[in-house]
Amino acid sequence: MRKYYTVEGDVNAKKAKEAYPKLALCDRCVSHYIVINEGDRTYDECAKCGADD
Ligand SMILES: [Zn+2]
Repeated sequence: MRKYYTVEGDVNAKKAKEAYPKLALCDRCVSHYIVINEGDRTYDECAKCGADD
């Protein structure tokens, strides 16, 4: 089970979508990001490692 997280991306990006992308991440991968906001749980695969169990 993954969760959607709004994370700090490219802070110099002009578009909010790139500066603060919303990604489905597993518990392991989310530790590599600075989390701005935590969202709903999802069955989508992890955006970083592709885990989909
Ligand atoms: Zn992952």
